[in-house]
Amino acid sequence: MQYIGSVYRPPSEAYSLIVQVTIGCAHNACTFCSMFKDKSFSLRREADILRDFEEARRVYRRVERIFLADGDALVLGTDKLLRILDKIRTLFPECARVGIYGSPQDVLRKTQAELISLKEAGLGIVYIGAESGSDRVLADIKKGATRAEIIESVEKTEEAGIPASVTFISGLAGREALREHAIECGTMISRASPSYVGLLTLIVEPPAPLYADIEAGRFVPLTPQEVVAETRLMLEHTEVKRDCVFRSNHASNYVSLRGTLPHDKARMLDRLDAALRDADMLKDERFRML
Ligand code: SF4
Repeated sequence: MQYIGSVYRPPSEAYSLIVQVTIGCAHNACTFCSMFKDKSFSLRREADILRDFEEARRVYRRVERIFLADGDALVLGTDKLLRILDKIRTLFPECARVGIYGSPQDVLRKTQAELISLKEAGLGIVYIGAESGSDRVLADIKKGATRAEIIESVEKTEEAGIPASVTFISGLAGREALREHAIECGTMISRASPSYVGLLTLIVEPPAPLYADIEAGRFVPLTPQEVVAETRLMLEHTEVKRDCVFRSNHASNYVSLRGTLPHDKARMLDRLDAALRDADMLKDERFRML
């Protein structure tokens, strides 16, 4: 198996076979992100990708999940992705789910028929980074997508029968835009109705442009209590049309939440209220990580 640079995957792909089909992130401009700043974006040669899968088949007796990396691997052409998925089906008949990161633009560039063909070939989940529901915040962080485009990309993915897992980041807007960020994340979840929402909390590391803003005092990170209050406001503003698994159990979060909206909303709000009353419920800063 050949890995180029650091490899990242969503928390729910912790036990997946990870194979890079692209290197880096085609966008690579988000101000808070340090993940792929050490790599220039490139496509991997198809022969190398297929060789990695063959090698993994020789090594692993059972592979239940596969994750196609790197940052926005859905940028690959549909024909190439279909050949990769076909290889996976042939080599790993036991594989129950193939996942991939995709930017809103990657989804919108594909036709509905292409997305359906990917679903039929075995693509089982697309992880889409929304980060915020606010157009102002999205512009500030150089996300490269608007609120409307993100909502459309999630709806399009779900309509093709592929569950979308959408990521938001607590604390991303700082103190001034806390309310706007929280409320518009909540209303974006309500409008887009993804199958899954993953909530992370902002941690900024040196190669990210936002790190320099923090160092210079231009951006002040939220306190843990402010992050919890922001999450509460976000959850309060979710009114989903269908079941949505909501998780904030990433290593970066101060309070771990897991439930299905709308049924578990009151329980999760109660847990956040308890954390606001009792600081001992908050994860110690030393144990937070990306
Ligand atoms: S957050 Fe995602 S889209 Fe933005 S630069 Fe990082 S990997 Fe690329």
